[in-house]
Amino acid sequence: MDAELKTLIDLQEVDQALSKLAFQISSSPAEIQTLQNELTAFVHACDGRKLSLAANQKERRELEAEVQGIRAKISRHKDQLYQVKTNEQYKAMLKEIEAEDANIRKVEDRILEKMVEAEQIDKSIREASSRLESEKKRVEEEVRKLESDRQAGERERDRLEEKRKSLVAGLSREVYLLYEKLARARNGTAVAEVRDGFCSACHVRLRPQAFNNVRSSGRLIACETCSRILYYVEPPPEENSRHEREASQQAAV
Ligand SMILES: [Zn+2]
Repeated sequence: MDAELKTLIDLQEVDQALSKLAFQISSSPAEIQTLQNELTAFVHACDGRKLSLAANQKERRELEAEVQGIRAKISRHKDQLYQVKTNEQYKAMLKEIEAEDANIRKVEDRILEKMVEAEQIDKSIREASSRLESEKKRVEEEVRKLESDRQAGERERDRLEEKRKSLVAGLSREVYLLYEKLARARNGTAVAEVRDGFCSACHVRLRPQAFNNVRSSGRLIACETCSRILYYVEPPPEENSRHEREASQQAAV
């Protein structure tokens, strides 16, 4: 294969690796931010549970005070029972006391609900705080890994950029400019392998003469469909003989 063509293939490989690395390096801060946001959300959720426990306790205290208030009223009314003058007044007072008793039972039911709810909240607080430690650890580890990956990516990028310089130095200016132009226009693929007679980038079959030129000429040949620079890799000998065997088998059928 032509030396310049070989260099172009290597250059394309380097460029594709560089563009993958650039993506990896640039997306790393956002990934770290996402992880930290997850942790913050978790901490907020824990705080939220603590707030709702405090609110629950406050409501319970208020309900308990309400019960005390009703009890005081009942005892006042019971005292007044002795002072009423008429039967009607007495009956009315008893009815009032009955209603107050029923009210106490209602409020006590609500206190019970609050207690059950507090138990659930308390349980979830304990579960969350034990999970919080492992969440912190997980986020720290993932952030550390992302940062070390990014650093490794940057080292690899620097190495590849050096390699790129030496590859470009081996190309004529004309060929390099052609490569750059094609790479820009063709989504990073300026050079394409011919496989089974097809351009592997645009998937159009080459005319037999064009295929022969790619196989045998030392020049750079462009795909007639997509303009990419074509190359052909001779299959290894055993592949060759397998192809031939298959071909002769097909001929026999
Ligand atoms: Zn093509």
